[in-house]
Amino acid sequence: MQQPPPSEITSKASSEAPASLRYKSFISKNADVNPRTLVLGSPQHYLCLTDSLQRTFSRKVYYDNLQTIIDQISETPDDKRSPAVNTDNWYAAIDFNIRKPHFIILHHTAQSSVEQALFTFSVRKKSETSTHYVISRDGKVYQMLNDYIRSYHAGAGKWGNVSDMNSCSLGIEIDNDGEKDQFTSVQMNALIKLLAYLKQKYSVPTGNIIGHSDFAPVRKNDPSVLFPWSQLASAGFGYWYDISNLKQPPPNFNPLLALRVIGYDISVPENAIIGFKHHFIQNNASKILNDYEKKIIYNIMLKYE
Ligand SMILES: [Zn+2]
Repeated sequence: MQQPPPSEITSKASSEAPASLRYKSFISKNADVNPRTLVLGSPQHYLCLTDSLQRTFSRKVYYDNLQTIIDQISETPDDKRSPAVNTDNWYAAIDFNIRKPHFIILHHTAQSSVEQALFTFSVRKKSETSTHYVISRDGKVYQMLNDYIRSYHAGAGKWGNVSDMNSCSLGIEIDNDGEKDQFTSVQMNALIKLLAYLKQKYSVPTGNIIGHSDFAPVRKNDPSVLFPWSQLASAGFGYWYDISNLKQPPPNFNPLLALRVIGYDISVPENAIIGFKHHFIQNNASKILNDYEKKIIYNIMLKYE
């Protein structure tokens, strides 16, 4: 191969410090507030604690963890020998970038306020949980992790052939008690705005926007049955059935296999039915499918084919 003349060879030396040294300080609006003067468990109390955590702990841990990831993805066969690859066979390819999220999983926080949720994700816990985004009841969107980072939001479960959902998805936590709380219209508008941005940016397929309960039925029930999935589908995120055009499925229709086509794990059939009903029926806890529900499954399945 012919060498380019030296004048055409450019190098871009980075003058930036490593991520761990670039950690941004947190400017709290509540720096002067003494948490002891606040009602225990109130939003103001959680906000004060969270601001203090962000200042002293969480941001530093975030950038330290980031540096670990940078070190990990910088490894080559020279650094860490794979039993399958001979170091002599390491040749650098030059065209690449970072893998993108391919699913978006929606959750409810099951907490009493967005301040409590932000606190929960800022502090060390027995079991690690995190999220990329939190949307408050008044429609404020908080980001807690860069989109390219693997968050601990989905845990064990299966959708299609995906079992490690954390590795390929973004998590969005919606501030809601998970019981009687309605999802507010400002909150839904904020969610739709965020989904529009993320879906387009990462080319997320419409059907890959699902609930935590779809991925892990029985173990998880979020977002709650009050979540307006049909409104979300009308905006282009996730699928919903055509209520005015439900056709009779063919005689050989197998609803369980159809649930599998949609994405549900049917290894325990009852669980797949529970997950489907939580999302699409929203008011029926029975584990038996009636004819109307079979029509719905057939209708949705056709959207996935
Ligand atoms: Zn969840």
